[in-house]
Amino acid sequence: MSHAAHEFLRSAAEKSADLAHRQIIRRGIDSYNAANVRGRSRFLDWEAARLRCQEIKWEAVNNLDRYLLEFEQRVKDRGGHVFWAENSEEARQYITDLATARGVRKVVKSKSMVSEEIHLGPALEKMGIKVVETDLGEYIVQLREEPPYHIVTPAMHLNRTQIADLFKEKLGDVDTDDPQQLVAAARRALRRDFFSAEMGISGANFLVADAGMIALTTNEGNGRLCTSVPRIHVVLSGIEKVIPRLQDLATLWPVLATAGTGQPITCYSTLAGGPRQPNEVDGPEEFHVVLVDNGRSELLANVEEREVLHCIRCGACINACPVFRTVGGHSYGTTYMGPIGSVLTPRLRGLDEFQHLSYASSLCGACTDVCPVRINLHHHLLHNRRDAVNASDRPWSERIGFMLWRWAVEDARRFRAAGWLARLGMRVVHRLRLDGTLLDPARPWNKNHAAPPAPAKSFRALWGKRNGNN
Ligand code: SF4
Repeated sequence: MSHAAHEFLRSAAEKSADLAHRQIIRRGIDSYNAANVRGRSRFLDWEAARLRCQEIKWEAVNNLDRYLLEFEQRVKDRGGHVFWAENSEEARQYITDLATARGVRKVVKSKSMVSEEIHLGPALEKMGIKVVETDLGEYIVQLREEPPYHIVTPAMHLNRTQIADLFKEKLGDVDTDDPQQLVAAARRALRRDFFSAEMGISGANFLVADAGMIALTTNEGNGRLCTSVPRIHVVLSGIEKVIPRLQDLATLWPVLATAGTGQPITCYSTLAGGPRQPNEVDGPEEFHVVLVDNGRSELLANVEEREVLHCIRCGACINACPVFRTVGGHSYGTTYMGPIGSVLTPRLRGLDEFQHLSYASSLCGACTDVCPVRINLHHHLLHNRRDAVNASDRPWSERIGFMLWRWAVEDARRFRAAGWLARLGMRVVHRLRLDGTLLDPARPWNKNHAAPPAPAKSFRALWGKRNGNN
């Protein structure tokens, strides 16, 4: 078992038994669900909107080379710079070199999951550059020195009291748990950073090819400040974020907002496409776009898995996932969590190390049902399982288990006998557990769950009786 798998199981067992944590998550997702239902009802035809988004992303991903080059050319025409990073190291190096060359001491960041993916913050901090997260949720988890819990709502696992205690400890002048006053305190602190930072780093929700602009949505206006106040703006984006046309945003923006938070449209929708032009009054002096591959080209080359690149990072599949709701976002130990993380991470970081995530699913399909770009997520989880099995030697116990299972199900009498033996085994185990003989406190499953007693009769026997065969 890989180290990542071991850590996942350990953390998942701990978090699934933490009822206070589960209550916070349930409350957060319940309010998301209510907003999302209202949001979808505002569309004349939500399914038609999903279909259109799927078509746009299909066109973009299947013509990625053309649209990325078009985007690059238009950014350059306006005086911007575009850097193609094959991997995390190249992306980090470009940005840290740029920051050093320009004498940057402080960076303000709006939310960017790619920056988490390439571990940009620690690289900048190592060079003595202060990095300030400006999305409120990211700001909170940065103060706690922990990674984002969720790609859209990074501090979803915290309640108001925990945040109030944190602000009191870290910001000093705050002694309240009133949400408005807590937000005001964060705003006061962040204002100073916005106006003293030399570099702003943002992600991009979309890279618009025909306009040569990035499209960015935030709810707090922090993205707009990061992209326009510091003298250098760096955009960090995966190559799959490109879309063909500006007019595609008319569908993608409201669908992203609805799937992400249930809003009709996000509060601040920003387009940025280069450094300040001679006739403009504000904007950065320098504009850099770092296009990150980091395994995406390999995914693009895999026709069966390619549609995973359609993801617009709305987080809807994460909210819908019963496994995420139970084990929480930090248990995954990866940048992307929930169903999209379980599909994407093994592909970007290796099936060997992360194949266990393909099994962190009940395959209920709730993720696929809610995905606004109609990615067939649970099928991709199955593909990952298949590829992981084909690529590695399975343990002998697993191989023998499946051989026995196949031998049993190939013949009706053997299948019946196996069912009888299994029920007998369940009854024995149940009895031993009632006696306390099998109750091992080190095993989280035994500690937190009570197995139901084995049924007296099999489904097969009950069905036969119902049809008068017994
Ligand atoms: S896979 Fe679909 S539902 Fe999940 S984050 Fe991506 S776009 Fe949203």
